[in-house]
Amino acid sequence: MLTDPLGRTIRYLRISVTDRCNLRCVYCMPPQGIPLSSHDTIMRYEEILEVVKVAAEQGITAIRLTGGEPLARMGITELVRMIASVPGIHDISMTTNGLLLERFAQELKEAGLKRINISLDTLKPDRFSRITRGGSFEQVWRGILAAEKAGLNPIKLNTVVMRGVNDDELSDLASLTLEHPWHVRFIEMMPVNNQEAWDDGFPPINQIFVALSEIKQRLAVLNLKPVQEKSGNGPARVFSIEGGQGKIGFISPISEHFCGECNRLRLTADGNLRPCLLSDLEIPLLPALRKGEDILPLLQQAVQLKPEGHTLQQNQRTFTRCMIQIGG
Ligand code: SAM
Ligand code: SF4
Repeated sequence: MLTDPLGRTIRYLRISVTDRCNLRCVYCMPPQGIPLSSHDTIMRYEEILEVVKVAAEQGITAIRLTGGEPLARMGITELVRMIASVPGIHDISMTTNGLLLERFAQELKEAGLKRINISLDTLKPDRFSRITRGGSFEQVWRGILAAEKAGLNPIKLNTVVMRGVNDDELSDLASLTLEHPWHVRFIEMMPVNNQEAWDDGFPPINQIFVALSEIKQRLAVLNLKPVQEKSGNGPARVFSIEGGQGKIGFISPISEHFCGECNRLRLTADGNLRPCLLSDLEIPLLPALRKGEDILPLLQQAVQLKPEGHTLQQNQRTFTRCMIQIGG
């Protein structure tokens, strides 16, 4: 078992399979993009599989594939299939922008993907295009419907809440759960390496953050009822609208962080284990993997070094990577 010095048992590994993306969301990466890793520094599928096998032997049961955009990496369905065959892995999920989901949903499901999280910050096509710097809302919407048709369940929609950008749509987004059995989750924006001014027309960066308490206050008109269940591996707190089919969750890494319950490790596309999303501490796995060395001691080291919690409240923002390079 992978248990850290604070008694937190690690059951969940989030794997970024690429640092490339077919969108350029304003909160996730700078307009000019990021320097891309060369192909030989990105983990090959067999290397990812090796990490999953070692992790599964140590009690990890859940894998989430993320990116960059996981569906933009060639052969991603094959990776899902490979991971699904690892004994001990009971839950494979993915976080995607949904652009390519219409094409991939069915085969992902057949390969063993169980559920999916799709990023959706707005229901307005022109706004969607501005936030994602060119993405098509309609294409993502078709992707969501395709995921539902394929039987991926649950479907979770992730909304990063931004003042002056999409905070007038919280109620509309939450109300999707009236007609659809989807989970809509509101996420506080994290100040990773995204603190430079965004594109023209966006508010100043220091005005964009909206705390969970305000998000909830704005949703009070919907009279949300708490749902008594633990939701997956995540820290979202879950509610529903009376008579609705879906659920509404809140992820508040900043104002009410959940570090005490954190059960996860992250693996970057270039093969670094990250014990905490919001700490720059990383343990490189790739050199050991490529030399054929045992990586278990490195996994154990990452767990031992897992910080007690992040330090964003103290305004420590020494982040070397953007979210696209970590995977969220
Ligand atoms: N491309 C995929 C997607 O967009 O879903 C997966 C990678 S993306 C980095 C994973 C998640 O991180 C997305 O839900 C995205 O909205 C979220 N994210 C990116 N930057 C963020 C930020 N600064 N604060 C909070 N969430 C962020
Ligand atoms: Fe790409 Fe996802 Fe980041 Fe948007 S949030 S730029 S879709 S990685």
